[in-house]
Amino acid sequence: MASDSSPPASSSSTTSYCSTRGGAKGVSFENVVLGGLAEDRGLYVPEVLPSVSAQELAEWRKLAFPELAFKIMSKYISTEEIPSDDLLDLCKRSATNFRTEEVTPVVRVGKAWVLELFHGPTFAFKDVALQFLGNLFEYFLLRRRAKGEEAGLTILGATSGDTGSAAIYGLRGKAHVNCFIMFPEGRVSEIQERQMTTVPDANIHCVSVEGSFDDCQDIVKAAFADKPFREEVKLGAVNSINWARVLAQMTYYFWAHFRVSEALEAAGEPLEEGSGLSYSVPTGNFGDVLAGYYAKRMGLPVDRLVVAVNENDILHRFFSTGKYWREGVVPTLAPSMDICVSSNFERYLFHLSGDDGEVLAGWLKSFEATGQLTLEGELLDQAQSAFSSSRVVTEDNLATIKQFWDEKSYLLCPHSSVGAKAPLQLGMPEGKTVVLATAHPAKFPDAVKKVVPDLPPAPEALQVLWDLPTRSTKMPNDLKKVEEFMLETLKA
Ligand SMILES: *Cc1c(COP(=O)(O)O)cnc(C)c1O
Repeated sequence: MASDSSPPASSSSTTSYCSTRGGAKGVSFENVVLGGLAEDRGLYVPEVLPSVSAQELAEWRKLAFPELAFKIMSKYISTEEIPSDDLLDLCKRSATNFRTEEVTPVVRVGKAWVLELFHGPTFAFKDVALQFLGNLFEYFLLRRRAKGEEAGLTILGATSGDTGSAAIYGLRGKAHVNCFIMFPEGRVSEIQERQMTTVPDANIHCVSVEGSFDDCQDIVKAAFADKPFREEVKLGAVNSINWARVLAQMTYYFWAHFRVSEALEAAGEPLEEGSGLSYSVPTGNFGDVLAGYYAKRMGLPVDRLVVAVNENDILHRFFSTGKYWREGVVPTLAPSMDICVSSNFERYLFHLSGDDGEVLAGWLKSFEATGQLTLEGELLDQAQSAFSSSRVVTEDNLATIKQFWDEKSYLLCPHSSVGAKAPLQLGMPEGKTVVLATAHPAKFPDAVKKVVPDLPPAPEALQVLWDLPTRSTKMPNDLKKVEEFMLETLKA
C-alpha cells in the first residue's frame, strides 16, 4: 500500500500512465492528454509517483513560475515525448496571458495567506491549467500533422461555470481543435455565460442544456463511452479529469510554499525544517485539491489539505465519516462547487485502494449501482491523515465575505470565502494556512452584493462583456441530440 507519510529522500520521475480501473497500462503522456478518459472509463494516473529531493526543493525556490512549472512537469513527461526546450517554451507561453508575472501571487490578508489564482483571462483558477492544456493540444496536433497524420481534436466539455470559459479562452483560435462546451441552462452566472458566449472564434461552440451540471457531465461521459462517435470526431476532454490539468495545478502549491516560507523567514519566524503549510481549497470536482495531494506525495512538505465545501458536501461526509454517498445538488452562491459527485475523486480513491485497479473498479461498480460507497478502518484513517474537511453553509459564507471586507478590506468571491472560512471552523492556525482564492469577486457580483452593497468597480475586461454579441445553441438533455448537433456543426 502506498504511504502518505515519509517524503522520499531521492528524486525520481515517471513517464507512463495507467487507468484507475486497470484497463490500460503503459500509456504515453501524449495519449493521456489527447484521450482524456481511458477506454475502460477510468481516469489516467501516473504508474509510479515521482519524487522531489530536498536539494531540488532548495533549487526550485529560486525559479520564476514558468520555470518551476517546467521542473515539476519534467517529472511526469519524458524528454523523448516533449524535448525540454519545447516543454519550457509551452510553460512560458502558458503564463503570458496572466495579468501578473507571478501568475499566482500570494498576498497576506490579516494573518492569513491568500494564494490568488484568478489573474488569468477568465478571472478564475482554471486558467492556470487550461492555458497550458490549449497550448499542449496544439503542440501535439501540429507535430502529428507535420508527420502527415490527419490529426485533429473535438473537445466536449461540461461546465458549471468557470471550466467552460477557461477552456474556451485556452482553446480559442487553436489550430485543428474544435471546442463544444455545454452548460446547464440558467444555472451559471450571467457573467460566466457571457464570458463563454461572447467569444467570436469559429472553433468555439456553446451549448446550453436543459438540465443540471451533472446531466451535462453525464452526456460527456456517455459520448466518450460511444466508441464510434468518439472515434469519428476524435473526442477529447478538457474537464478536470484531464491529467494535464491536475499536473499544471501542482505548480502553485510549490510556488505558495516557497513564497510563504520566504516571507516567514523575512519576518524572523521561519517554518521548522521539513515542515509545511496547510492549504484550504474550495472544492467541487476535487481537481484542485488533488494537485495538492500529488505535490505532497512528491515530497513537498504539506501539513493539512483542507477540502472546503458548501452545502454540496459529499466530500466532507466522506472525510468525516467514510460515507461517499450520492445526494441531489443544492444550488448555492458558489456554483462551481455545486456538484453531487466529484469526478476527480476516483484518482484519490485509486491511490487509497493501494493503486489497485481491480479493487477500485469494484468500489466504483457498487457506487454506480447504489450511489453509496463506504470506507472504514485503516482506509478511512489514511484518508483522514492527509485531508481535513469542512462544510461552510451559505450564511457563514456571506458573513465571511463581509468580515474580510469590513475588517481586512479584502474582497473574496463566494468560492474563495468557503476556503477562507473552513480553516477557521477547523481551528487551524491562520498564519500557517494558505487559502486558495479561486475566482475574482467581480465574477459573482450578485452574491457579493448581498453583504457588500458598494462593490468596487469590476475589471475592464469583465465590464465590456455586457456590450458584446453572444452566440449559443439550446439543446435538450439528450446524448443523441447533442451528438447530432456536433456532427452537423463539424461538417459545416
Ligand atoms: C472549479 C472551481 C472550483 C472547484 O474546483 P475543483 O477542481 O472542481 O474542486 C472552486 N472555485 C472556483 C471559482 C472554480 O471555478
